[in-house]
Amino acid sequence: MPQKVLIIGAGLAGICLAHRLLEAGAHVTMMDAGQNHSSAVAAGMVNPMVFRRMNKSWRLAEFLKEGSDFYQQIEKRTGGQFYHPLVIRRFFSSQQEKDLWDEKSNDQSYEPYLEKIIQEDTLNQSAHNLFGSGRVKAAFWVHAANWLKENWRYFTDQEILIKEVFKAQKWEAESKHYDGIQYDAVAFCMGYLQKNEATFGYLPLQQTKGQILTIESSQISQKESLNRKCFVLPVGENLFRVGATYEWNNSSLHTTQEAKQTLIENLNALGSFDYQIREQIAGVRPTVLDRRPLMGEHPKLQGVFIFNGLGTKGYMMAPTLARELAAHILDSKGLHPETCISRFNDLLLN
Ligand SMILES: Cc1cc2nc3c(=O)[nH]c(=O)nc-3n(C[C@H](O)[C@H](O)[C@H](O)COP(=O)(O)OP(=O)(O)OC[C@H]3O[C@@H](n4cnc5c(N)ncnc54)[C@H](O)[C@@H]3O)c2cc1C
Repeated sequence: MPQKVLIIGAGLAGICLAHRLLEAGAHVTMMDAGQNHSSAVAAGMVNPMVFRRMNKSWRLAEFLKEGSDFYQQIEKRTGGQFYHPLVIRRFFSSQQEKDLWDEKSNDQSYEPYLEKIIQEDTLNQSAHNLFGSGRVKAAFWVHAANWLKENWRYFTDQEILIKEVFKAQKWEAESKHYDGIQYDAVAFCMGYLQKNEATFGYLPLQQTKGQILTIESSQISQKESLNRKCFVLPVGENLFRVGATYEWNNSSLHTTQEAKQTLIENLNALGSFDYQIREQIAGVRPTVLDRRPLMGEHPKLQGVFIFNGLGTKGYMMAPTLARELAAHILDSKGLHPETCISRFNDLLLN
């Protein structure tokens, strides 16, 4: 008998988990309130590097290949289009940053991700060039709004996803009943709104608001994503997404003049471009202070799971983490220790 799993929340986390559970033969039902303010708002960029320290992302080699394969596979499965390879051009802020890039690009373990600086990068004028630039390889971006729309259509057509608000009165955690139906497992994937739900309320989930501008310009390179202080992501037809702000402990969904001003200043510091602002949007990232996801089974409720805390690198991590969580749910396979919510058990027991 296939296991019956209920997933609450169909954003990036819930959708990836649903695909992985279905691939493993489970019977899946998904429920979502129909108001996504993170996965659909995101720029969807997958950057192998963390520029702040010029380091590779955590578990990069595992996440990057599997993520890239996964999104292309889901394009085929759903008939949608959302995966785009990307070159990121980082303009250095200092000589020190350039030296660090030189050093890392000569390190064999960075070879798949960092191009060695060539004369064209040193002279490149697609933005203010203060200390030269370098190109990141193997990046990609997922058109987040399309990703969500196509997956929603796919799962709704198959009667897997229903549009419904999760109600605590219908939920019996001990017996894993929701609205009178019993499930073998229930997975909470409610993003930043998980904080308002009691079952996993003890976890230190944070709400980190972000805002993005969409601009139109015929003067900005459409071939590469420019980066310094902000990112400029070409999304086609002379449109670019410029982001993003980080507003800690803030779950409001209003766009603000202050964030707009910050993004304009960052963009103007990057280069002198003529552009028109077409849109400003806001969303909330589910983040954790230790920058690791929140995954695993509730310490007191058997068969009740969470998949959350995907933070700023959600689109890179979710495909692999969802596969690992599906194997944990269905076959009790162990989770990567840094991802497992058991690291916060003290918070529940105290
Ligand atoms: C401005 C911005 C830019 C970003 N840029 C990037 C980027 O470039 N690259 C990257 O990797 N990540 C980026 N992110 C982060 C990324 O979006 C998140 O990591 C990811 O979307 C989180 O997915 P999630 O499924 O956990 O949460 P969500 O997308 O919030 O999904 C949760 C779902 O649960 C549903 N839900 C909540 N409560 C209920 C309820 N009571 N009943 C029923 N359903 C409910 C919601 O409707 C929602 O659809 C960005 C985020 C923001 C805000």
